[in-house]
Amino acid sequence: MAKKDYYEILGVSKSASESEIKKAYKRLAMKYHPDKNQDNKAEAEAKFKEVKEAYEILTDTQKKAAYDQYGHAAFEQGYGGAGASGFSGFGGGSAFDDIFSDFFGGGRGRGQTVSRGNDLQYNITLTLEEAAAGVSKEIKVPTWVSCDICHGQGTEKSSDVVTCNTCHGAGVVQMRQGFFAVQQECPTCHGRGKVVKNPCKKCHGEGRIQKTKTLSVTIPAGVDTGNRIRLSGEGEAGLNGAPAGDLYVQVQVKQHAIFERDGINLHCEIPINIALASLGGEVEVPTLNGKVSLTIPAETQTGKMFRLRGKGVKSLRTSTMGDLYCHVVVETPVNLTSKQKDLLKELGESFKADKNSKHSPKEKSFFDKVKKFFG
Ligand SMILES: [Zn+2]
Ligand SMILES: [Zn+2]
Repeated sequence: MAKKDYYEILGVSKSASESEIKKAYKRLAMKYHPDKNQDNKAEAEAKFKEVKEAYEILTDTQKKAAYDQYGHAAFEQGYGGAGASGFSGFGGGSAFDDIFSDFFGGGRGRGQTVSRGNDLQYNITLTLEEAAAGVSKEIKVPTWVSCDICHGQGTEKSSDVVTCNTCHGAGVVQMRQGFFAVQQECPTCHGRGKVVKNPCKKCHGEGRIQKTKTLSVTIPAGVDTGNRIRLSGEGEAGLNGAPAGDLYVQVQVKQHAIFERDGINLHCEIPINIALASLGGEVEVPTLNGKVSLTIPAETQTGKMFRLRGKGVKSLRTSTMGDLYCHVVVETPVNLTSKQKDLLKELGESFKADKNSKHSPKEKSFFDKVKKFFG
């Protein structure tokens, strides 16, 4: 059965305005209301379905455009196929509630698609010192910016911007693909809903041009790998003067030769020789803000950790300062002179004479365990 034309169903012309369509719909909806059609409910319901479908298609900018172009083929599967809401029958009266909310409720979406510009990401690599102290960096970002000749309009005269004929300003068209009606970007205006008659010479009607932007980014103290800084509106310019996207600066902090970072704390190894470890003394240790002196107590073992308060990294969100943890490594001496060897031999002999290993606490407890194990 061939379907009736939607305009015919509503009794309006093809150039009818939205308010004329609404008026026609309201009149017909009343006409086919169940209360007024007690004798012929089934036929009234069928008529009402038709009217409602026609109304839904013709008041939806995108669907109307598709219908005008492709006719019923654009919505071949009938009710619901192209997203039209199903008919719920007269029983609950909800269909009628819908009608009146359509008349008095909020407006339907209308007009051209506005494409906001894309967000951009810029990867920045910082030294630990820069990340800890904060830094201001100049970055160069290849991006789209609004055309300075036409100010994003795509043409110098605003009267040269006209509504696209293919999609009637919707920016999209309905296409049939096998069993489904799918929505596609309008091939004529590429989703803008408008076309430019005399395109701007500089941007060829795009309204934007490609350019390398130089930006100054203030990186706050305490940033770490994985942090992102958002520069609002510094992404790509939108089409036809639409808002620009945002620029995200993605932070990567380089490995440091001395310090290892763990959040707001820093860790470093402090190698010391056996004489200093045994007798104690002072060592200079590095911090991000220069050297400080650290007291090594006598009889310090390898692996001992000293905490330098507030010598870490500032927290990004609070004023808390992290700490610096110094991990002592006692080194076995190498490249010894014969004199040094003699001294160590003498030292070794004196250790041998010590049957209880009281100079070597670990060794003592180890041999005690071995003795127990075999004994
Ligand atoms: Zn231009
Ligand atoms: Zn179009």
